[in-house]
Amino acid sequence: MTITEPTTGAVPDLDAARAALRSRLLDDGVLVDLGSPGLYGRTGVFERVYAAVDAAGVRSQADLGADVLRFPPVETLTAFERTDYIASFPDLAASVSAFTGDDRTHRALLAARERGDRWEDFLEPADLMLTPAVCHPVYGLVGDTVPQSGRTFDIVGDSFRREPSLDPMRLQAFHMHEFVVIGTPEDARAHRDGRIPGMRALLESFGLAIDVVPANDPFFGRVGQILARNQVEQSLKFEFVTPVYGPDHAATAISSANLHEDHFGTAFGIRTPDGEVAHSACVAFGLERITIALFAAHGTDPDAWPETVRAALAL
Ligand code: ATP
Ligand code: ZN
Repeated sequence: MTITEPTTGAVPDLDAARAALRSRLLDDGVLVDLGSPGLYGRTGVFERVYAAVDAAGVRSQADLGADVLRFPPVETLTAFERTDYIASFPDLAASVSAFTGDDRTHRALLAARERGDRWEDFLEPADLMLTPAVCHPVYGLVGDTVPQSGRTFDIVGDSFRREPSLDPMRLQAFHMHEFVVIGTPEDARAHRDGRIPGMRALLESFGLAIDVVPANDPFFGRVGQILARNQVEQSLKFEFVTPVYGPDHAATAISSANLHEDHFGTAFGIRTPDGEVAHSACVAFGLERITIALFAAHGTDPDAWPETVRAALAL
């Protein structure tokens, strides 16, 4: 969610445009409806483009020499706690629950199920959360001091955000490929700023119209509005947006470049060798959003896409 995407009030044309793209992706066999808004199976043609997008993104960041890390789709409650995510985005968070009862409770669960009642109440929250941003687990792994030259990571994985929607650009389960720097304030800012032109050029080479705009995270509630305003005023976050639904509608963020300042350094107790609290920054490719933006812009048959686009994607 971004300030560039309307989130309230019905915009009939926009809803129709979203529904049309969704139908096209389903009818042309790109996505498979799994029966919950924002949850899709993916077919071969989707995977072909998705893999090409990811590979092109990785090639474009190869000069970073980032350390590759991969994480499961769930993170420990301890790590989740330290990110403070629940304070800012309670509406997007989701936890894992599990059955810990005895035979008697199991019988009660089955009886509820038999009656057609919801039986998930019989599950207890486990100490695992679905990962909402793939960089989260890394901050607990770098120790209390990063080297003077900082640390750079390449992280891709599953993200889950509880934002059910019929907009095919807004999924509940998706993937972002992040390139993360943890180091001095200067290094973090230089990473965030330095990567923007290359990312923009890459996305433009895919034949997408791109704008880079200041943005905010979808902080929850009234306090959230203040946090969001501060984030924009301080130019902490930029998004790469593309007009998936045409020039009359707000463009959608398909990638982002985000300076966290000392947020994670303070929360996880990370310092630079001179004793300063470490700063961090991420740039993130929203892999499904880029892939779907490509289908929206060029059609659902990649073999018929412009030669320049196919070359940029090595398709
Ligand atoms: P970072 O920690 O790197 O700053 P972040 O949490 O700020 O990450 P976002 O900017 O929220 O990350 O998300 C990164 C990208 O993931 C977005 O630019 C977008 O392309 C994609 N994305 C975010 N939400 C969704 C969604 N609901 N469905 C599909 N893609 C999404
Ligand atoms: Zn991140």
